[in-house]
Amino acid sequence: PVKETNISKMATEQTFIAIKPDGVQRGLIAPIIARFEQRGYKLAAIKMTTPGKAHLEKHYEDLKDKKFFPGLVEYMNSGPICAMVWEGLDAVKTGRVILGATNPLASDPGSIRGAYALSVGRNVCHGSDSVENAKKEIALWFKEGEVISWKSASDPWVYE
Ligand code: UDP
Ligand code: MG
Repeated sequence: PVKETNISKMATEQTFIAIKPDGVQRGLIAPIIARFEQRGYKLAAIKMTTPGKAHLEKHYEDLKDKKFFPGLVEYMNSGPICAMVWEGLDAVKTGRVILGATNPLASDPGSIRGAYALSVGRNVCHGSDSVENAKKEIALWFKEGEVISWKSASDPWVYE
C-alpha cells in the first residue's frame, strides 16, 4: 500500500456537486451519489437545501446576461437541492466527466446526464468547472464545519 502522506497529497481536491430539483424529485439522489462513491471519491459534505433566489443568482452570477438565466434560476428555485462536496484525485475535471455534457443530448450515455436527462434546462446535476470555482461554490453553499475531512479505510485500495 502507498504511504498515507502521498494519498493525502493526491486526494484532497474538492468539487461542489449538486443534485438539482428535478434530480431530487425524480429519485436520482442515490444513483448520482453511487456514481461518485463507487468511482472512489469521498463524500465530504451533504445537505438538502432550498437556498432561495438571491443565493441561486449568486451561484450562477457568471451567466446573468444569458437569456436562459431567469428560467435557470426559477428551475433551481423550484424545489430542494441536494448539495454535496466530493473529494479525491482530479475531482473537479473527472467530476464533470461523470456528469456529462451540459446538453444531455450530447452527453456520453455512460454519464449521469447521458443516462438520466434529455433537456439542457432539466439536466439533473451541477458540478464545478474549475478548482477556483469549486472553492468559491463550496464557500457559498457550506458553512465552516459542514465540510468534513476524514480518512477513508478504502484509500489505500483506491490510490496506488
Ligand atoms: N442552461 C440552460 N440553457 C443553456 C445553457 C445552460 O438552461 O443554453 C442551464 C443548464 O441547466 C446548465 C446551467 O444552465 O447546467 C449552467 O450552465 P453552464 O454553461 O454553466 O453548464 P454546466 O456547467 O452546468 O454544464
Ligand atoms: Mg457551469
